[in-house]
Amino acid sequence: MNPEGRARVEAWLEYFNDLGISNFCLDRAASTLQSASAAEPIAAAPGPLSRPVRMPPAVINPNPTHVASVLPVIKSASLFAANERVEGDTLERIREDIGENCRRCKLCEQRNKIVFGAGHAKAELVFVGEGPGHDEDIQGLPFVGRAGKLLTQMIEAMGLRRDAVYIANVVKCRPPQNRAPEPDEIETCSPFLYRQLAVIRPKAVVCLGAIAFQSLTGTKPSMSRIRGQWLEFRGIPLMATYHPAYLLRNPNAKGDVWEDLKKVMAHLGLELPTKR
Ligand code: URA
Repeated sequence: MNPEGRARVEAWLEYFNDLGISNFCLDRAASTLQSASAAEPIAAAPGPLSRPVRMPPAVINPNPTHVASVLPVIKSASLFAANERVEGDTLERIREDIGENCRRCKLCEQRNKIVFGAGHAKAELVFVGEGPGHDEDIQGLPFVGRAGKLLTQMIEAMGLRRDAVYIANVVKCRPPQNRAPEPDEIETCSPFLYRQLAVIRPKAVVCLGAIAFQSLTGTKPSMSRIRGQWLEFRGIPLMATYHPAYLLRNPNAKGDVWEDLKKVMAHLGLELPTKR
């Protein structure tokens, strides 16, 4: 194996080890192959281990899941508020409405590219981050920098391919020096995110960090208190967990995030890894 490939495999193994599932990455390929049926296509993961992973069905279940019926409802949510709903909306239309040179807020002054979001248009799982960073601003794609690589590992640890989920941010332009987006910027940009969620109608939304959670729910609790808890948000189960950038600074919190993601996997009916 070439040095670059080896380094990537080692990074993976270290990551799984951090999560306490070091054998899982080796086990999953076999168990997924055995249990996959024709209705659940498998595809080679783009990751270094090239293990097969199962694509979630791209069909949205019109019936709320068992989780939704027991979840607290956030009253202040505006996900499908009438003033944001657009009849016959599509992701393409939302992108067009933003425009090629959006100047609705001051973030336009220093941004390079608008980062709309990326992934499966009918994803059952949507991750919402805060706002683009340097690499995202250059490439016009969400979560492609260091934190993005960690997010990809998290997604693949769930047995999913990154392109089977959808990834978006609260604000679509990079805040200067990666500062937190300001309330007026969030207020201006988040209706586009609400429309994206309304079009995709995922089975679950995972908020990465407090800003995403606050922006979607209008509440400002501490992350350590609310992470890992299901809330119902206009019919969509929503959970917050730590932002991958936080995990880069605090690797000890990876275990907490893995516990949260396992709840999401259970909710989506994904096979949970067995710890050996
Ligand atoms: N952090 C975010 O919140 N979003 C990105 O797209 C990248 C880093």
